[in-house]
Amino acid sequence: MKLELKNSLSVKLLRVVLLSALVVGVVLSCAQIVYDAYKTRQAVATDADRILDMFRDPSTQAVYSLDREMGMQVIEGLFQDKAVRMASIGHPNETLLAEKSRDLKSSPTRWLTDLILGQERSFTTQLVGRSPYSEYYGDLRITLDTATYGEGFLLNSMIIFISGVLRALAMGLVLYLVYHWLLTKPLSRIIEHLTSINPDRPSEHQLPLLKGHERNELGIWVTTANQLLASIERNTHLRHEAESSLQRMAQYDFLTGLPNRQQLQNQLDKILIDAGRVQHRVAVLCVGLDDFKGINEQFSYQAGDQLLLALADRLRAHSGRLGALARLGGDQFALVQADIEQPYEAAELAQSILDDLEAPFAVDGEEIRLRATIGITLFPEDGDSTEKLLQKAEQTMTLAKTRSRNRYQFYIASVDSEMRRRRELEKDLREALVRNQFHLVYQPQISYRDHRVVGVEALIRWIHPEHGFVPPDQFIPLAEQNGTIIAIGEWVLDQACKQLREWHDQGFTELRMAVNLSTVQLHHSELPRVVNNLLQIYRLPPRSLELEVTETGLMEDISTAAQHLLSLRRSGALIAIDDFGTGYSSLSYLKSLPLDKIKIDKSFVQDLIDDDDDATIVRAIIQLGKSLGMQVIAEGVETAEQEAYIISEGCHEGQGYFYSKPLPARELLSYLKQAQRTHVSVL
Ligand code: C2E
Ligand code: MG
Ligand code: MG
Repeated sequence: MKLELKNSLSVKLLRVVLLSALVVGVVLSCAQIVYDAYKTRQAVATDADRILDMFRDPSTQAVYSLDREMGMQVIEGLFQDKAVRMASIGHPNETLLAEKSRDLKSSPTRWLTDLILGQERSFTTQLVGRSPYSEYYGDLRITLDTATYGEGFLLNSMIIFISGVLRALAMGLVLYLVYHWLLTKPLSRIIEHLTSINPDRPSEHQLPLLKGHERNELGIWVTTANQLLASIERNTHLRHEAESSLQRMAQYDFLTGLPNRQQLQNQLDKILIDAGRVQHRVAVLCVGLDDFKGINEQFSYQAGDQLLLALADRLRAHSGRLGALARLGGDQFALVQADIEQPYEAAELAQSILDDLEAPFAVDGEEIRLRATIGITLFPEDGDSTEKLLQKAEQTMTLAKTRSRNRYQFYIASVDSEMRRRRELEKDLREALVRNQFHLVYQPQISYRDHRVVGVEALIRWIHPEHGFVPPDQFIPLAEQNGTIIAIGEWVLDQACKQLREWHDQGFTELRMAVNLSTVQLHHSELPRVVNNLLQIYRLPPRSLELEVTETGLMEDISTAAQHLLSLRRSGALIAIDDFGTGYSSLSYLKSLPLDKIKIDKSFVQDLIDDDDDATIVRAIIQLGKSLGMQVIAEGVETAEQEAYIISEGCHEGQGYFYSKPLPARELLSYLKQAQRTHVSVL
């Protein structure tokens, strides 16, 4: 707060002191002036007595001898005194012996002095003969003009008045300075310090003891204020602590320190808003312990608490993958997985939590095993609000417990069965290779130069003992995730190379084999050596093996991909980029990669007759490949019109149901023989 000068204490003091000093000064001066007036009046009388004394004898002489001349001389003598206005000598009953008068003195101040002293004053003394006769001869009478006295009196009064006022003013000023130095200035300094105090940390800056004021009231004030500030800070601190512990109690679970349901709801609200914006999925997992009541009864409630604590710690270990983790109460916990893309990510988390529980908990020297059942809901499929998702996840968990325990279940039955199937497949996938459940089929690739079969693409098939045919689009991503793709991929390469050797031996020496590579395989450092070995073992000529890689796999890390592709090429393989156009390939990078062939994705080929955009894309890809000096093959060619279009645009090769579906090795051999015989002339 800014202090206005007119409001300052010292100015106020100055005003009061000046005013009172002035009043006192004026009153005292007036008293002195009144006293002075009295003294002046007395001075007139004293002067008159003195004059009369001085002239009494000559006047007596003159009246005694009736000497008029002498009388006049005496009168003249009297008139030497300026104050004498009239003088007379004579017997009252006779004519005056001598008399003289003059006008009243004119003076600008006499109107005032006449009021105080009177205009003139007359004095008489009796002229008496010498004793013992003491005979009365007459009177000597004088009248004194008061003006002269008045002037003196006024001058004096003025001096008294002015000096009185000046004295008062000087006193006032001195007092003001004293107040200012002793009181207002130190007070202002204290105020300055007070204003810089942080209200949240009031005792952070102590008010300083002012020099010279350590022991007086100001010193005591400062010390007391400092003590007060310190206790305010202590109190605030205590209040904050109480508030935050209240808040903690309101938002966190007392036992585990995890957020409680209330807090989880807040967190989930935010997560859902974000996920809705970026269109990501969110999974809510409700974990309920199986038979925790039994454990409490069998051991003790303390042991139960310790167990919950240990469980909370194990759940916390997953927090890297979690958006939120909370204890819903009792033996129930909730985990939120934010920003997931596929439901299986939630299934994996649930499974890893269940796996985590496999290891027993050591409580009070006992080993206790816990099992849990997990209900899973997905945003946005199962609900768009926190309440719905949580409620359904809890319901699902409770429902799942009634059927069988130690497992997870999704709210939507179809998702649940899909997840279950996925898990099962993933498990079976690990066995599929040793159990000989895979085989390869081959789809011919036709050169448009002479309509001959110039190559085949090897495509893997998995015949599951229960589910039958499982499409590669389903199990390849699973194999990529659990790492089995490396072994499977090597098996495919081996099979394909072995098959190609066979066909070469059977006379189709020009035939080329295309094999799909997963991104995981591509980044596996062993791959170039494996390829090299296979080419040698099966004595395959260079450029007879073509490896198909996908755009997305390459674009993740261009420079490493380029290195890997180069070393693959050095081993003698050709490189084709598969499903071209579906990823986010950057054309400039395309140039820097060692590629031999572009494979136009079948989605563009299939619609090119009806969809002008697709036709344009196909044409553009062909142009691009040609201008980069690459071969271009179209996949998914199903009709003669499609073929006619791509041929007219200058595409080099084609593959698709129009020529043949992928065929098992033996059937492909017949196809090759048939094609050789007819030279594919019908096509
Ligand atoms: P891809 O490499 O793009 O293979 C072409 C897919 O298109 C094959 O499906 C093939 O059967 C299908 N196809 C061929 N001609 C036509 C046609 O005219 N019309 C239609 N609608 N489809 C046609 P498939 O065999 O189901 O394979 C799917 C994907 O699985 C492959 O796509 C490839 O990415 C992957 N894949 C297959 N075998 C392997 C393998 O041994 N290793 C790896 N890493 N991936 C493989
Ligand atoms: Mg392919
Ligand atoms: Mg493809």
